[in-house]
Amino acid sequence: SSPAPLLRVQNLNAYYGQSHVLHGVNLHVMPGEVVSLIGRNGAGKTTTLKSIMGVLRSRTGTVSFAGEDLTRLPSNRIAARGLAWVPEERAILSSLTVRENLELPPARPGGWSTERALEAFPVLRERSHYPGSKLSGGEQQMLATLRVLRSAPKLLLLDEPSEGLAPVIVQRIGDMLQDLRREGLAVILVEQNLKFATRLADRHYVLVDGHVVDEVRADEVEARRSDLLGYLSV
Ligand code: ATP
Repeated sequence: SSPAPLLRVQNLNAYYGQSHVLHGVNLHVMPGEVVSLIGRNGAGKTTTLKSIMGVLRSRTGTVSFAGEDLTRLPSNRIAARGLAWVPEERAILSSLTVRENLELPPARPGGWSTERALEAFPVLRERSHYPGSKLSGGEQQMLATLRVLRSAPKLLLLDEPSEGLAPVIVQRIGDMLQDLRREGLAVILVEQNLKFATRLADRHYVLVDGHVVDEVRADEVEARRSDLLGYLSV
């Protein structure tokens, strides 16, 4: 028998006031799997992450994690189950130093220590006493991702980690995600950068206007590249 999914999202509908944004989204993530959500601006990728985390409450359907129904839990309890969201707006506090930002979340057993995080990105160690506001976009992205690793998540939800970053930084973040995957961490990666998404993900879900319209495995990407590009072109 095949193993049970770590995360299962069934028939998810989400709303902003009267506006119905997600329409019956179904998806799953297996243990240790990296899954991408790809689609144009406004397709509903961020809304899917917010709905999973329970940050957006006006939703129907079910979100279950390791067999437990999380749908009615508040977002802090969902996070405590081992889901960690890195929003697109990286939420680095500009008045705190790099180190203070890193040490904001509660440390949990098995989570990354401050030392390990600063080891992973020496540039952050060099700047550990700088205020958060002095970091570049790429450095803030690294810091925001490292920060959630402190709480030893089982599933990481990353919203456009490559957006607006120099290629060399995108490469570094990709390398870090490869390392995390080797440690067994599961990831949902929201991306518009197909190159980045296909380097990392085992499977891709395509969102169009709040519907999952396609699902492509890594070994199908080459043959289906023009379809994937089509979904992303404006
Ligand atoms: P992007 O890359 O632009 O974030 P996305 O695929 O993540 O795109 P969402 O941000 O999930 O898309 O947005 C889905 C739809 O919901 C869009 O039509 C968007 O305009 C709308 N929307 C998003 N946030 C809100 C909000 N706070 N209030 C009302 N409508 C919203």
